[in-house]
This record gives sequence, C-alpha cells and structure tokens, in this order.
Amino acid sequence: MVTIGVLALQGDVAEHARALENSGARVSLVRRQDELARVDGLVIPGGESTTMSKLLVSFDLFDALGERIAADMPVYGTCAGMIMLASTVLDGRDDQRCFGALDMVVRRNAFGRQIDSYEEDLDVEGIEEGPFHAVFIRAPWVESVGAGVEVIARAGNRSDGPIVAVRRGAVMATSFHPEVGGDDRMHGLFVDMVARA
Ligand code: GLN
Repeated sequence: MVTIGVLALQGDVAEHARALENSGARVSLVRRQDELARVDGLVIPGGESTTMSKLLVSFDLFDALGERIAADMPVYGTCAGMIMLASTVLDGRDDQRCFGALDMVVRRNAFGRQIDSYEEDLDVEGIEEGPFHAVFIRAPWVESVGAGVEVIARAGNRSDGPIVAVRRGAVMATSFHPEVGGDDRMHGLFVDMVARA
C-alpha cells in the first residue's frame, strides 16, 4: 500500500484525503518537513497559488518540497496546485514561486472573470468508463507544454481547446478540482501512478 500526502496548508484537504483513501492509499496530511519525508507521493490541492507559495515559504516547506519533486517524487497538482508545478506562470504575482516540475506555461485565472466557474464532462486520457465531470473554479489553463509533457485533456474535448490536464510520468496536473463531485477516478489514476513509480 502506498502512502500519499495531501499538502494541508489550504484547500479541500479532507476531500482529497477521502478520495485517495477510497482509491486504496494510506493518507497522511503534510504541513512539516518530517511529514513530507514519509510520503511516497503528494497531492497539492487548489486554493490560491500566491498564498500557497507564501505559506510554503513560511512553513519552511518550499525548498524541501522542491527537492523531493526534483528527485522525482510523484505529485498531482490541482488548480492552484497545477500553477505550483509549472515552469512559467502568466498573470501571476512577481513574488510568486513555483516548482517547475512540468515544462509548461500556465496562465492563472485564464477562463476570465465572466466565467469564474464552470463544469463540463471531460474526456481524460487514462480515465476509463466515460468522461470525468470536471469542476473549474477560477481555473488556470496550460498555454503550452515542452517536450515530454503529455496533454491528457482539453476544454470542450476539442483538439484545439485549452489544455486542462497534463502528465509526465508520475507527475500530473489538472485545471479542475477532481475532489468535488464524488468521482474518485482521477485520484485512482494517481494512486496507480504512485504504486508504479
Ligand atoms: N485562481 C487561483 C490561483 O491563482 C486558483 C484557483 C483554484 O485553485 N481554485 O491560484
């Protein structure tokens, strides 16, 4: 059984923990370096990426997490978590930091103010048995990816739609919140990725 951490500084921590447990993982909440050291993989929830960046620094976790990510720990970033995994952030704040776990350019709040939130049934590569009901809340999208980063879903299921889910090996990021709505398949996919890593 794998142990998966949920970064517990902000966001839907309990919902992610429940979905991971339903998918067969042992779950551990991560707020300190010693807690981070004990997990096989980590979920970075949504929230607000500028705040998360600051909290990671004030909890003295930013560098330790950066080191684990650089050493290929499996990690799944959702929404603000996706922004944290990017190599370049557009429309961010100057002092906002990110990990560069995925070679990609991410635009914050990309869907615009008018469309604060929306939901749609998305075809996600690697998710079997029908589309995934995806909930987007002030979501980012991916403007471009580098070599080796696989696009696994696009908004509108259109081949030219904005990129909303990506993966490279055991590192995954989605613009949407997989923890709301009671469908645990995205978490199941991540648990498999950690088990195989
Ligand atoms: N807009 C937020 C940010 O910039 C992300 C929103 C979310 O995680 N639901 O970090």
